[in-house]
Amino acid sequence: MTTVNVNGDSLPDTSNLSDRYSRQILFQGIGAEGQLKLAAAQVAIVGCGATGSALAGLLARAGVGKLRIIDRDYVEPSNLQRQSLFDETDAADSLPKAIAASRKIAAFNSEIEVEPKVDDLIPGNIETLLNGMDLVLDGTDNFETRYLINDYAVDRSLPWVYSATVGSYAVTLNVVPGQTACIVCIFPDSPRGIVDTCETSGILNSAVNLVASIAATEALKILVHGSQAPTLRRTLLSFDLWTNEHAEISAAKPRTGCRACGERDFIHLAGEGRPHITLCGRNSVQIHERQRPIDFTEMDRRLQPHGVVRHNDFVLKFWHDPYEMTLFPDGRAIIKGTTDTAVARSLYARYVGS
Ligand SMILES: [Zn+2]
Repeated sequence: MTTVNVNGDSLPDTSNLSDRYSRQILFQGIGAEGQLKLAAAQVAIVGCGATGSALAGLLARAGVGKLRIIDRDYVEPSNLQRQSLFDETDAADSLPKAIAASRKIAAFNSEIEVEPKVDDLIPGNIETLLNGMDLVLDGTDNFETRYLINDYAVDRSLPWVYSATVGSYAVTLNVVPGQTACIVCIFPDSPRGIVDTCETSGILNSAVNLVASIAATEALKILVHGSQAPTLRRTLLSFDLWTNEHAEISAAKPRTGCRACGERDFIHLAGEGRPHITLCGRNSVQIHERQRPIDFTEMDRRLQPHGVVRHNDFVLKFWHDPYEMTLFPDGRAIIKGTTDTAVARSLYARYVGS
């Protein structure tokens, strides 16, 4: 039987919608039809630290049908102040954030699908990781990855939402390729002051939640009403929760001559100019090594004489004073205790392989 509304329009079959979304369906901007669109939507969240956790939590509870959570890192005690999907057990187990997030979400919404990807988004895997997504949300902590997402999104006409927080300051922008400005229109080069300042400025969890709430709501608008949604914000919005200063600058139109969306010169997608990566808020270096599958049991045995070793299915940790090395099954490593790439490289070569 087809249900019709007062205007005689036929309404979608909503009989299978779970009662859990009843309050959201009552909200005029979503409705039953919107809820069905959310159930069919596929969203990638790149980076699952503070902002990524909050975004994933909100969209999972809102009933977005498929979330792909991409994160290269593991949970540590210093994350728990603001990274809402993790707990003390995750930190004690050094669980990869993507895995911990997917387990946490499964416990409160088993009706949606979460695909954890323990990986670093780079030019070589971006097609595999973002292909087929309807929307990409930024939960990263660095402009290198944001420029890469922007290049890919502009190239594929895929909407994405930029979000960043440092200290009590939060900033966000919706990028709709072909309509609005892109991130390169606004920041042709990495803005100082937003990059690598987590360590020096700290971060308030409330600023994280503010930016995630705004970005998640813009995401709902795009998923329910498309990127032409009339209430979609077309500005770069920033807010400092501590000083109460806020600003909005128009991003309604692309900047003439923009390298990315104007000239379509995708230097980040092409993989040019990628420096070594130093993780935000930590004294650590990441080593990319993708062609070296590691047998954790064998590696554990090999490293035993040189320090303290521990592993689970997802990570192997090796403490060799003053360094701490975390190895992932594909050979990628995060070496803590140095920002010197040469030192990190030599440790890796000595204990894992050159
Ligand atoms: Zn642009």
